[in-house]
Amino acid sequence: MESLDCIKNGRNSEKQFLINCLLFLVMNGGLYAADMQKPSRPNVLYIVADDMGYADCGVQGCKDIPTPNLDALAAGGIRFTDGYVTGAVCSPSRAALMTGRHQLRDGVPDWIPYGKPGLGAGVPTVASYLKKAGYRTALVGKWHLGEQEGCNPLNRGFDEFYGFLGGGRSYFPEKSKAGQAKVNHYTQLVRGREPVEQPEYTTHAFGKEGANFIERQKGQDQPFFLYLAFNAVHTPMEAPEDYLQKFASIKDKKRRTYAGMLSAMDDAIGRVLKALREAGLEENTFICFISDNGGPIVRNAPNASRNTPLRGGKGETWEGGVRVPFFLKWTGHLKAGSTFDEPVIQMDITATVLALAGAEMDGKWPINGVNLMPYLKGDKKNPHETLCWEYGKQWAIRQGPWKLTYAFPTKVAKAPVQGLFDLGRDIGESNDLSAAQPERVKEMKVTWEKWRKEVGGNLPAQAIDVKNVNHAP
Ligand code: CA
Repeated sequence: MESLDCIKNGRNSEKQFLINCLLFLVMNGGLYAADMQKPSRPNVLYIVADDMGYADCGVQGCKDIPTPNLDALAAGGIRFTDGYVTGAVCSPSRAALMTGRHQLRDGVPDWIPYGKPGLGAGVPTVASYLKKAGYRTALVGKWHLGEQEGCNPLNRGFDEFYGFLGGGRSYFPEKSKAGQAKVNHYTQLVRGREPVEQPEYTTHAFGKEGANFIERQKGQDQPFFLYLAFNAVHTPMEAPEDYLQKFASIKDKKRRTYAGMLSAMDDAIGRVLKALREAGLEENTFICFISDNGGPIVRNAPNASRNTPLRGGKGETWEGGVRVPFFLKWTGHLKAGSTFDEPVIQMDITATVLALAGAEMDGKWPINGVNLMPYLKGDKKNPHETLCWEYGKQWAIRQGPWKLTYAFPTKVAKAPVQGLFDLGRDIGESNDLSAAQPERVKEMKVTWEKWRKEVGGNLPAQAIDVKNVNHAP
């Protein structure tokens, strides 16, 4: 009997084991199905161009330089006609994109030269938030938020970094006068912290590296964040020979070179987006594209870009300095082929992404961007009643269609320049209405001053003294 009981018990145990196995499979199958039904957090891809003009891609009206990949990106999502950046030059704009906070709060009023302090210590970035929320994070390209160790992307939330720490460099392998490879901490191409040989034209290399990162995410459980930050189409004016040939019909040499550089960037973006499609990750990836600031037209390293029909360019608080090409694409969630004409700003992209990722925010570092999703779905109207700018000796404020700009005298413009413009009728800021509407000017100045105190801007208070204002256009 004992042996029979043993056999019986053994059989029972075996039976129970099989039942347990079946239960395990059913339960886990159910959980998996439940997981599949749950809206999962999107992957995130930031694509940033450097010094690209407002009018320099097909969907923005460009006729002489084809940009099929950027056009397809815009066509697959939302194009923002009034998309702004907080900074009129590289570092301030990139800082606010990374943090979702105005750059004046975090010590980045201007571009960061070699050896100078970078993005304020301790400020969380979109990368550090997403990493904490379980994302795999990578930066490919230009950083320009400080080359000192505390500012290194690997210390600011990025698992991987391929690119360079500074603000600009040659697109081709750098050589010293002696013919030796130049080692410059600011411009050296690195993987992580290790200097690497530059294999080719940097824009091609960044496209390949971005595509490679995407390919490695296929089949991973972890969502990813890729910040693809080009230095194209910033000076120096250098395009590969085959791209110059492609635009041989453009007579102006600088514009021809610009066309080659822009076309190479468009191809690199196409390469990364193709990798995303082929990895089956396109459906659940939130993609943004912006230029970090407007195209430099006459100064601040002019590159033959065009901001038509906007006034001014890089380094200015005129529309041409801060209104940029601005697209968002998230298949199945954002309406393809649509436009959005209420003002938005690059900090909103980061606020939106952090909300979608369910990131746990650090209350010590409140962000200034707005989660755009309720506005893009039509549940809410007008994400920003007021937007304000300050760069160097200039400032500006936009409320609805009204834009008030003020620029201190410079070597170029001897007298201060101020203007009140109705952007709804006068997108080129050419018809100054400030003399006709002194009350509006006064109220907008007061609002701007309040904002400046709040973010800790660096202009002296007398900058907004009405008595100092010259109403000349
Ligand atoms: Ca720039």
